[in-house]
Amino acid sequence: MARYTGPVCRLCRAEGVKLFLKGAKCLSDKCPLEQRHTRPGQHGRIPQRKISPYGRQLREKQKVKRFYGVLERQFRRYFEMAERMRGKTGDNLLILLERRLDNVIYRMGFAYSRRHARQLVNHRHFKVNGRNVDIPSYLVREGDVIEFVDRSKNNENIKAMIEDLMTKANPPSWIEVDWEGMKGRIIALPTREDVSLPVEEHLIVELYSK
Ligand code: SF4
Repeated sequence: MARYTGPVCRLCRAEGVKLFLKGAKCLSDKCPLEQRHTRPGQHGRIPQRKISPYGRQLREKQKVKRFYGVLERQFRRYFEMAERMRGKTGDNLLILLERRLDNVIYRMGFAYSRRHARQLVNHRHFKVNGRNVDIPSYLVREGDVIEFVDRSKNNENIKAMIEDLMTKANPPSWIEVDWEGMKGRIIALPTREDVSLPVEEHLIVELYSK
């Protein structure tokens, strides 16, 4: 699946919000958003004109896509799935994104960022319910057990990474983490309130409903 490979801090500066795409740097004062509040590009310092309703809808969509590292076509597919589900489409959309395996691994605290989690999944470091899974978009279900494969559990670099991450992690209430066993369990599906990004999802629904 295609992914964005350009400079990521630009994305946060474009959206004017921290998207936490760079791991430890995001929490330090080296984060460019801590230092300057201009948009990227040569016209970034020019005050922005009043944004149109369409512009607001577009920005909201881009923000969510970038936060979860999803490109347009896949994002649209999530939207279509969300529409078919019971309940509010905007809530469903965010919950689907939150259930992605790369997001779950990051939220557990087993990776420095969602991008890093995606790379770990692609490199076959994880299994779900005992079976190897190398698909970052895999949607977890209630009761799923996600753990490092045995080869990775015995890897010194991975063990050192986990020791470092353990001190920083703050997993959400819907995931139970067993640091010793290097695994986690989905004790409940996430809800809209579990999404940490400030987002007005109704704007995305309005955009796609035109
Ligand atoms: Fe965004 Fe992290 Fe870069 Fe800050 S350091 S601008 S939060 S990616």
